[in-house]
Amino acid sequence: MRYTETKARSAELLRLTLAHMGHHSAAFNPLTFTLWYEYASGMNPKLNAAIELRLSQALPMDDETVLNLYREHIAPADTEQVEMIADEMQRLMTTVAESASETGQQAGTFGVQLNELTQVLESQSPNTPLRPHLERALEGTVGMKSAVDALQSRVSQSQSEIQRLRSDLERTREEAMLDPLTGLLNRKGFDQRLQALLSHPTAPGESHCLLMLDIDHFKSVNDTHGHLMGDRVIQGLSEILRTSVTRSAHAVARYGGEEFAIVLPHTSKVEALQIAETIRARTKAMKLRNRSTQEVVLTVTISSGLAELRPGDDAHSLIARADAALYASKKNGRDRVTSH
Ligand code: GH3
Ligand code: MG
Ligand code: MG
Repeated sequence: MRYTETKARSAELLRLTLAHMGHHSAAFNPLTFTLWYEYASGMNPKLNAAIELRLSQALPMDDETVLNLYREHIAPADTEQVEMIADEMQRLMTTVAESASETGQQAGTFGVQLNELTQVLESQSPNTPLRPHLERALEGTVGMKSAVDALQSRVSQSQSEIQRLRSDLERTREEAMLDPLTGLLNRKGFDQRLQALLSHPTAPGESHCLLMLDIDHFKSVNDTHGHLMGDRVIQGLSEILRTSVTRSAHAVARYGGEEFAIVLPHTSKVEALQIAETIRARTKAMKLRNRSTQEVVLTVTISSGLAELRPGDDAHSLIARADAALYASKKNGRDRVTSH
């Protein structure tokens, strides 16, 4: 179970939880309660770090923040628990299936032996008084065998049901990492790939890179052509990103709104710059047309910033350098790539 506190301890936590809830603006609902309860208990260090970071920056703990923190730090644990239960069930079912199959085999063998015995007795003393007893035993064995067979088929049905639940769970997990508009990784997927990159050491002379990209003057695209056209630009650019990045280890994500990120493990700065430059040129060449007249209605440009992983970096410092490089691209006239 996730919560194992005693009644006394939980009463203490309840008091702290209510105090936190009272201090912040989010509504008094179960999500807010769970969030502050876990915070007060200290059982979820990542959640505490995320909350403390927000509090230290005097950011509000409002409904939206609570929902996001809950999704990121509390809900995933539930998925893990579901998976653990599925594992446990699968193991149990396998044991039952094995013992049913063994019992079935034994019943089969026993039936054959009884049959042989009947025949031997029959040939030695026809009309033996034992005959009805043997026949009943034989019938009983056949009945037992079919009961075991039925059990076995029910067990294997349950096993495939569990398997199906597992793949549903897996799919839900994958979907939770994707951005619905573009099909690229979302922020959560990005975080995961970046963590993977940080935990993979580079070989001597090799490097990991991170590229951040942001559409130029995108607000005016929305203002002039409408939000739907804005969405088409984001989708068109996503296609360019997807097709400009060919190595499967490279991960393209929608970082937020009109910002994108590409995680480039085992990639030199020179290679990363080439990719960034290809994307810049292809984006500039993209033409958005009016769907009925085919007239070109707009083109866009993109700015990007590249950072190379340094010893001692964490996600925050690496993103901050890529962001600083992106900001320099913006400041120096946009439609360009800057390397930190
Ligand atoms: P800059 O060149 O400095 O990046 O300017 P900008 O206008 O691109 O930047 P700003 O951050 O001012 O505006 C980003 C805009 O992107 C604002 C927001 O409405 C729009 N946007 C964010 N997400 C979406 C989306 O999913 N669809 C559409 N159509 N617009 C979006
Ligand atoms: Mg922009
Ligand atoms: Mg932006």
